[in-house]
Amino acid sequence: MRTEEEAVLMIEPRNLDTLLHPQFDAASLKRGKVMGRGLPASPGAACGKIVFSADDAKAWKKRGEKVVLVRLETSPEDIEGMKSAQGILTVRGGMTSHAAVVARGMGTCCVSGCQEIAMDEENKKFTLNGKTFREGDWLSIDGSTGNIYDGVITTVDARIAGEFGRIMAWADKFRRLKVRTNADTPRDAKKARELGAEGIGLCRTEHMFFEADRIAAFREMICSDTEEERRQALAKILPYQQDDFEQLYEALEGNPVTIRFLDPPLHEFVPHSEDEIALLAKAQNKPVSRIKEIIESLHEFNPMMGHRGCRLAVTYPEIARMQTRAVIRAAINVQKRHPDWKVKPEIMIPLTGEVKELKYVKDIVVEAANIEIESSGVKLDYEVGTMIEIPRAALTADEIAKEAEFFCFGTNDLTQMTYGFSRDDSGKFLNAYYDKKIFENDPFAKLDQVGVGKLMKMAIELGKGVRPALHCGICGEHGGDPTSVEFCHQIGLDYVSCSPYRVPIARLAAAQAALRK
Ligand code: PEP
Ligand code: MG
Repeated sequence: MRTEEEAVLMIEPRNLDTLLHPQFDAASLKRGKVMGRGLPASPGAACGKIVFSADDAKAWKKRGEKVVLVRLETSPEDIEGMKSAQGILTVRGGMTSHAAVVARGMGTCCVSGCQEIAMDEENKKFTLNGKTFREGDWLSIDGSTGNIYDGVITTVDARIAGEFGRIMAWADKFRRLKVRTNADTPRDAKKARELGAEGIGLCRTEHMFFEADRIAAFREMICSDTEEERRQALAKILPYQQDDFEQLYEALEGNPVTIRFLDPPLHEFVPHSEDEIALLAKAQNKPVSRIKEIIESLHEFNPMMGHRGCRLAVTYPEIARMQTRAVIRAAINVQKRHPDWKVKPEIMIPLTGEVKELKYVKDIVVEAANIEIESSGVKLDYEVGTMIEIPRAALTADEIAKEAEFFCFGTNDLTQMTYGFSRDDSGKFLNAYYDKKIFENDPFAKLDQVGVGKLMKMAIELGKGVRPALHCGICGEHGGDPTSVEFCHQIGLDYVSCSPYRVPIARLAAAQAALRK
């Protein structure tokens, strides 16, 4: 007879993926022909007919077809199509690029960064390993291995079996680390709660604007020429945000919810098609040529290190003010509805590298929050913290902790900036690094404990030296990777936060880390 501890230790956390996502039927898989391989960006198996645009994915699904969406890379405009697809395959992008992060959040299978594909989007075809695939051809992909198969491989649906709940309950007994989720929508939050999340560690507020009816207001905001225009656009955005935040607080039933202020690579959000540009021009009462100029000016060659994160709030403080109002008003409403819950918003400022910029944004947040709280007559505590995702923030964490009430490690950006290679492009050369035994793993998937981990340890030590009650978590994609979770346990983090479908994996990995110690 085995003990509960032994049972928990025996299970490979990654195997839980097979319970949570569709898999290929074993017999069918044996006959499958591997045509190529990309990055295993979001687990599960998918089989469908190839489509090349989000609109086609939606339309084909509507008429009852199963589709695999194949794109050079994805952007916010593709969200609806991604939701309609069984699986997503991209030519570009790494483990933390848009397609990977969004697909993981949805629980949809994704293979990203298959550089071997020669894409011809215009003619709706691509070539891989000598074979040309056209729209409507069958394709099967495995987001757990990155394999791409020619033709049909049948899939079997996810099935959470009876023992799952029991093992998870045992795991929960042994772990010290809390497990939160990265959730941007009330739907994700509910799913994550079902899978055992104890809070939201990261709500990427820019992801709340992916829906077709919302992106228009967001575009008006980023394409504003004056503060007045921006205020008008922000006024349209505020009710969306407040409503979403309320639903997030409701879904989490009084558990912590960390809302991260806007951090969008702006050029990803601008319209691309002539029709959409014309619509935006009309809404803003501007000539199409002016909108095109703005779009051009927003384009950044390395979008991940540009005008984003708290830099946006420093340039346009009214954005931080609007988001604060939305967060606090939502929290007040939910607190009123549920007097027995303790709703305590955690406002997270992204991409801080210098304490003064954090203080600048924090002052705006505190001023706006206090006005809302005082006028409501409700007693509400809140915290303002920051992501630690720029090496300088880790190196100066003692300074940063004077202002930040919590740290959350954004290890996607921290990895990118510590290594100095882009999270979107590294797929191009990482294979050579594996072949030459320079790297064993993709550092965007498995935390580099030696370098990035050293920065994390240093930041915790420096931060807690100044503010002993500082609570620390991680919300980069590593928060759902078992070995990285073990490391997070060892360095004394309070929680890990990962996409909803990885919550059970993190719970089990956290228990194993505690038991092994
Ligand atoms: C990160 O950088 O680790 C993070 C969680 O933020 P994002 O992926 O949105 O940049
Ligand atoms: Mg980041």
